[in-house]
Amino acid sequence: MRKNLVAGNWKMNLTYPEGLALVSEITSLAGSAAAGANAPEIVICPPFPLLHGVGQALPQRGKFHLGAQNCHQKESGAFTGEVSAKMLASVGCEYVILGHSERRQYFREDDELLSQKLKAALAAGLKPIFCVGESLDTRESDETFDYIGKQLTDGLFHLSNEEFDQVTVAYEPIWAIGTGRTATSAQAQEVHAFIRERIARAYDAKAALDTTILYGGSANAQNARELFSQPDVDGGLIGGASLKAADFTAIIQSF
Ligand code: PGA
Repeated sequence: MRKNLVAGNWKMNLTYPEGLALVSEITSLAGSAAAGANAPEIVICPPFPLLHGVGQALPQRGKFHLGAQNCHQKESGAFTGEVSAKMLASVGCEYVILGHSERRQYFREDDELLSQKLKAALAAGLKPIFCVGESLDTRESDETFDYIGKQLTDGLFHLSNEEFDQVTVAYEPIWAIGTGRTATSAQAQEVHAFIRERIARAYDAKAALDTTILYGGSANAQNARELFSQPDVDGGLIGGASLKAADFTAIIQSF
């Protein structure tokens, strides 16, 4: 079901004590604002070793949820150093980010692999946050829509209607991630509307209306309200600004 949602992607940052301190600061700053009827769903995505402890530290009531940043495509086995979706669910994760551009770029994750990871996550009862987004080259050569259309078709649209219901999509232009150069709200809206239209074509109009679509890429306390005011932008996937309690709280309060 479509909802306002803000996810904090901590990436490979923070030790366990630092993560606990950040969560305690966020929950005390956000206070009742994070529990109110209009509050977005808030998903905190720490690195693997912090998941269980941070999950325990989140308020059990209110809008806070736990998410991971990746999972393996197999349920278990001889895959040294990897983590399965079932393990994530067993420590309290409800969400998992899949297809982040850093995974695609540095770990060579392609849409074929991501389609398997999606299946594994869904089989374990996790809700995937599936990321798409174009590079600067792609945008400058006017291929953004073709490129994102292909990521959706190859990575995501193999899911059944019931499976797709569980998915949140995140549009993250690579040129905006961690660069301080955010997409304008018009640029974000244009791509979000395109994604929604493609969902309608692949599934149906209801599925398109019901899908939560997040924007990510240098979203911050200053630009979140303008981005979230766009009709097809339902919230954000926040990197850098999710590591600062005051900024992340201001973003949560930007609806
Ligand atoms: P950023 O990262 O907010 O630091 O640009 C967003 C993301 O990569 O999810």
